[in-house]
Amino acid sequence: MNEFDRIARYFAPLSAGEAGAFALTDDAAALTIPAGQTLVVTTDSVIGGIHLPRDASPAQFAQKLLRRNLSDLAAMGALPWRYLLNLHVPATISEEWLQQFSAMLQQEQQHFGIVLVGGDSTTGGENIHLTATLLGLTPEPILRRGAKAGDDLYVTGTIGEAALALPYALGEKTPDAAAQPWLDRYFAPEPRIAVGLAMRGIASAAIDISDGLVQDFTHLCKASDLGAVVHIPHMPLARTGDIETMLTGGDDYELLFTAPASKRQNITAVAAETGVAITRIGAMQQHTEVVFLDAHNQPLHFASKGYRH
Ligand code: ADP
Ligand code: MG
Repeated sequence: MNEFDRIARYFAPLSAGEAGAFALTDDAAALTIPAGQTLVVTTDSVIGGIHLPRDASPAQFAQKLLRRNLSDLAAMGALPWRYLLNLHVPATISEEWLQQFSAMLQQEQQHFGIVLVGGDSTTGGENIHLTATLLGLTPEPILRRGAKAGDDLYVTGTIGEAALALPYALGEKTPDAAAQPWLDRYFAPEPRIAVGLAMRGIASAAIDISDGLVQDFTHLCKASDLGAVVHIPHMPLARTGDIETMLTGGDDYELLFTAPASKRQNITAVAAETGVAITRIGAMQQHTEVVFLDAHNQPLHFASKGYRH
């Protein structure tokens, strides 16, 4: 099957919801941005052997690819809208692989309200190399740099599951019942879209946690030119023990955000509305140091801050 037949068969049906995608038959898509909205654009790749095991299933590739990108939109308070897909796969890739991959894209499109509007296709090598570019909409993005001294610091969901799953995903350990939910999180993280949307006008700053809580939070602090005190005992960790692994391991795709103390009731309401746990774990401070305190109020230092690309 040649490239054009492939696009027509597996990808053109995924563009059905957007007339401006021209059924993937023109040189580019032409999109009209709804009035009053800013376009939020993000791109991320998933490479077999780096971001997922080489032998991960086509469905797992599809989910991780879209969800990593969707998490960036969530952190900006953006509504997911459209996406592009760059597909670089071995020339020997099977029809079955493409079929399963595109079927999961379809399922995820429906779940998250996005439509495929274009991309590029190349073959070669032995590795699966995927890039998605997600387009989202918001009247006003939430940025990393908006935090103020005295703001509360929050985190969504739980932290550390994906890091705990890693040795099982890589086949270094044999999964038991306890590891299964961690593996689910690793392969299909839950982008916190609903929380991001509800945080418009409430959060002063936000970032999604992809490379480990410690490292990503440091980015938010730098962008806001602030420090913080974070209480490790308040953190919603996946389990007791392994604190360093969970706080620096990455792939959580939870949100860290700040908000003034006057918004505490709004945030409780957002948690109830979305069904996502939101935990207050610290506060921003003028002093630019970022301090993680343990149960004895002693600062904890991490050998590694997190994943480096
Ligand atoms: P060009 O050579 O003009 O870049 P291509 O042959 O690469 O055109 O692509 C033709 C059309 O198919 C374009 O609309 C492009 O966006 C779309 N397309 C190509 N590959 C993909 C893909 N993997 N997913 C979605 N759309 C694709
Ligand atoms: Mg092209």
